[in-house]
Amino acid sequence: MNQGLLPTAEAVSRLIQELNKLPGIGPKSAQRLTYYLLRAPEEQARLLAEAILSVKQEIILCSTCFNVTDSDPCLICRSEERDRSKICIVEQPQDILALEHTRVYKGLYHVLHGAISPTEGVGVDNIRIKELLERLKDSRTDEVVLATNPNLEGEQTAMYLNRLISPLGIKVTRLARGLPFGTELEYADDVTLTRAIEERQEF
Ligand SMILES: [Zn+2]
Repeated sequence: MNQGLLPTAEAVSRLIQELNKLPGIGPKSAQRLTYYLLRAPEEQARLLAEAILSVKQEIILCSTCFNVTDSDPCLICRSEERDRSKICIVEQPQDILALEHTRVYKGLYHVLHGAISPTEGVGVDNIRIKELLERLKDSRTDEVVLATNPNLEGEQTAMYLNRLISPLGIKVTRLARGLPFGTELEYADDVTLTRAIEERQEF
């Protein structure tokens, strides 16, 4: 949809276009949000703009687990209360948020930043697998929980990691079935996700 053809002010169509680029925001939602912000107090718009800029300017990746953080190591890697014998492998930082929300898992994490997908040209060297193996080499990990997404790419990645990690004498578990196949972790509800962690099975 070409906003340039609409009889709106340049600044309005520019914001509509930018919002429209966000995942899950179609042209209609982009318009609704734009007109909402037009009516909102200037303070609210400024807070939103600043929040967007600061995630880009202040956020880095933890050099241990590759979670997003504003301090390195991140809060989870630094915490004395976490169970350091467990590492849960996820595809994206937002998956940590979903799992933490259930308050069941108390171990550490490792973010791959993707999943193996030959069709999309994502190979084993394009995600943080090498860093994971380095980490396992000199840590006292006794369980790795594979929490990649229950879809084709996630399963492929889990199988590949299991082949690499099992021979190291580390127990490898996978989130229990019950998560609907073809979905992504971040969209799973708390109850399903809690059950999936609690009932995780040896791979
Ligand atoms: Zn970390």
